[in-house]
Order: sequence, then structure tokens, then C-alpha cells
Amino acid sequence: MFEIKAKDLAARLGEIKTKSGTIRTPALLPVVNPVTQEIPPREIEKLGFDAIITNAYLLKKYRKREALEKGVHKLLGFSKSIMTDSGAYQLLMYGSIDLTPEEIVYFQESIDSDIAVILDVPTTGASREEAEKSVKETIENAIESIAHRRRSDILWVLPVQGGTYLDLLSKSAEYTRNLPYHIVAIGSPVPIMEKYQYDKLIEMIITAKRIIPDDKPVHLFGAGHPMIFPFIIALGIDMFDSAAYILYAKDDRYMLPSGTLRLEELDTLPCTCPICSKYTANELKSLNKIERIRLLALHNLYISISELKRIRQAIKDGVLWELLEERSKSHPMLFSAFKRIIQYIDYILDKTPSIKSNPVGIFFYDELSYYRPENLLHHKRLKEYYTKPQQAKKLILLEADYNIKPYNRKDLYIKMRVNREFNDRIHIAFYVPFLGIIPEELTETYPLSQHELPRPDDIPERVHLLTAKTIVDYIVRYGYNEVIVEKPKYYKKLIQQLTRELKRKGIVFRVAEENEIIREVNHI
Ligand SMILES: [Zn+2]
Repeated sequence: MFEIKAKDLAARLGEIKTKSGTIRTPALLPVVNPVTQEIPPREIEKLGFDAIITNAYLLKKYRKREALEKGVHKLLGFSKSIMTDSGAYQLLMYGSIDLTPEEIVYFQESIDSDIAVILDVPTTGASREEAEKSVKETIENAIESIAHRRRSDILWVLPVQGGTYLDLLSKSAEYTRNLPYHIVAIGSPVPIMEKYQYDKLIEMIITAKRIIPDDKPVHLFGAGHPMIFPFIIALGIDMFDSAAYILYAKDDRYMLPSGTLRLEELDTLPCTCPICSKYTANELKSLNKIERIRLLALHNLYISISELKRIRQAIKDGVLWELLEERSKSHPMLFSAFKRIIQYIDYILDKTPSIKSNPVGIFFYDELSYYRPENLLHHKRLKEYYTKPQQAKKLILLEADYNIKPYNRKDLYIKMRVNREFNDRIHIAFYVPFLGIIPEELTETYPLSQHELPRPDDIPERVHLLTAKTIVDYIVRYGYNEVIVEKPKYYKKLIQQLTRELKRKGIVFRVAEENEIIREVNHI
């Protein structure tokens, strides 16, 4: 049912098979109001969306007979996969729930949904008592609903509730391990999304994802603006729905992957989609409201699908981190979101494939790049799996020359190697910001020669400090008798930090010039 084709960070590129077709994931399901249908689903299908989501409760309330007669695909004019939400969220916002779990299961089966959601009780973000109640009642409904299923070709969704009460969310997520549901959905982040509380959202996703089995696709309800797509996808969200394209259009807002602009502020349209190619900003402004909403909504959908395609390609190419770095600069809230993801980098490291299918050169910029998984994986490997040459007692740390890669092509190293032929007491390694220690025998392995650094002066102090600490860890762990550090030409600040850290640990070492180092090798 769900096949994963590629991974990067915690993101998965995959396919979900439904009875109406294949949904390429990560997927965005535009929300279609079954009554108003501002953008005909047929047009959404033409834009390349594999699935839409609509509201079963509204269908039942306003178009029941038609829906039962024609089925939801014919009724909406969409031939690919249709997910129906039980509509519990709307119910809760506007009144009480006058539906039973059985009715909603039966109705969704009868209208031929492809992916259906049980009657859940969303956590709307109020009190803890309310959140507890929503978890408890959703689980009860989930257990009851299994018995009401009559068809076996529909994918059933189990919503996880609890909202920002992370302990309740965990408890709710535990049920995804045992109950027979095909897809898991993380519920109710809408109030959070509206307030741009992305850091809360990230905590929720990671908390739930740590518990949900890896082979289940995970849906996020109400994902909003394309700005947040790469971040939630990087955390392992496989599908999400959003009504933002139409809500923004109704408010004359024009979406871009990096933010939102108001139509009235625009002189030119910074986009090449069919709408923006055909109309000028002034032409759009002068249209009547209904037509303007339609065209803005279409543009917003184009922007959303093209951002999604870019993310899918980034997962395939193994460069999702680069996209996050880029997007994190487009809004302060996204910068905070990215920082929050870095706080949970252990989660990402756990999920990141340890061997890249497509090893691409990595770029280091600043402190954020220090935390990229390839770098942390290198530190981890040195710590957990590496063994130094057995006889080596003396460590000579040479400065990595960022102009020469692999680093073992450095002149000084080549000279030393000749002289050292029969001396296995000396171990040579390179020091370099970000990666820290590169033992001589590993210089040609990925990514130890496939990376680019900024010019030495542009590397922030904080990166030197973090790097110095990993170098000290290495020296302490492998217990050399003697440590000699080549006097730096480029990385003076790193060596200042290293000196401070080594002294603090009481480790004896000395900094030596090139000719001293050569003598050192000759003498032994
Ligand atoms: Zn456009």
C-alpha cells in the first residue's frame, strides 16, 4: 500500500496506492468545499495533484442523495484519489457532534471514498481536560469503527490527538502500533498554524513520529502555507491537506514559496505559472472579485505544487538540508523552526540514511550547517566505530588546506609520509572547521573530501568552539601519549579555541612549525 522509494533527513519519497490510483508522496491534498467548489476539482486534477480532500459531514448534510447516487468522484468531477474527512473539526467549532462513528464509516464507504477518516474528537487547543477527553474519545471511536467497516478497499485513517500536550499526544500515538489502520494523521494543528507557532508544531510532529511505526504514511491536518512544506516533510510528514490556496485568494493574497504578498502591492507578478504569464498585476486587480479569487487560487495551487516538486527532487538528490537552510532565511518564524529542528537533531540522525544513495558535495556556511547530518554522522562514527592504528602513540595534527582536496595531497603530509615509512608510532590527522578531525586513512571517504568551506575569516567563532570540542573529545577518547598541532596558517581561531579546551582538560600538547614537524618524523 505504501512504498518508500528514497529518504533524506527524516523525509520519505514514496507512493500510496488507493483503489483510484497512486498518490506520489510527499503529497498535498487541496481542500475542496463540497458545496461551493470555488475551483472545480477537474482543474485541480489537471494541475498534477494526485488527490484532494473533502468534508464528509458537509456532503452528508447538504448533498447526501446526490453523493450516494453518483459517488464522490462523479459528484466532484475528480477521478483520482479522494480523501474524506469526517468533518469533526468543523462540527466542534460550530456546535455539537450529531453523528455516530457508525454513520460516518457507513457514509464514507457508501460514497466510495478512497481514504476515509473516522469520527474523531479534535483537540482544539483549549484546556488539558479537554485534550484528555479528545484523546480518550478518539481512541474509543477508533476501536468501535473497525467493527463497522464493510469494505476492504478503503484506506482508513487513525487521527492522533492531544495537541500540544505532548504526553497525551504520545499516549494517543501508542495506539497506532496496534490498531489496524492504514494511515496515521496528526490532528488539530490549525490554531497553531494560524499563529505561526511552528516550533510547537515541530515538537508535536517529532513526538508522534517517534512512536508511529515507520511503515505507516503520516498525514498532517491543515498544513497551510507552502513556506512550511519543506520543514514538515523533512520531519517525515508524507501527506497533508491545505485550504490556504483558496482562503488566501479570498483575501487577495498571492503566495510564494518564501512568503505572501498582497495583490494590491504588486506591480509585476514574480511567477511564470500560466496565470501569471497570461495576466499582468493590474489586469488581475481590475477583475471582478469572483474571477480574481479563481485566478489567485489557481496561482496559489501552482506555487504549491511546484514547491512540492522541488522538495521531492531534493529528497531524491539528498539535498533537502540545503533547501531548509535556504528557506529558513525567508521568514524569522522559519528560522526559529529550523533552529528547533536542530534541537531535535538526534531524531533526524536516527531517521537519516547513513549511506547516501547519491553522495553530493556538501556546503558549510555557519552554525546551522555545523548540525547537518553528514557532519554529525562523521563525529559519531569517529566516536563509536573508529579504531585508531594500534601502535600509534603520537598524534600529529596537520592543518587542512581548504584549497587542496583530498587533504592528504598537502605537501607537508607527502614529505612526512616518505620519511615515516616504517614508523607506526605516529598517527597523522587533519584538523578542519566543522568536520573536526580527519584521520589520514579516511581523507578520501565521503564527505571528508567532498565539501566546501567558506573563506577562513568568514567562519563564525561558535563553529570554531564546537569544532574544538569534538577534536578534544577525539584526543581524550583515543589516549595518545603526545599531541603535536601544526601552527595554523588559516584556522588560527580554531587553534585558539582548541588550546583553551586542551588546557582545561589538562592535556599536554605543543604547537609546532612545519620544519619541526618534519624533524619530529625523522628522529623516531
Ligand atoms: Zn503564478
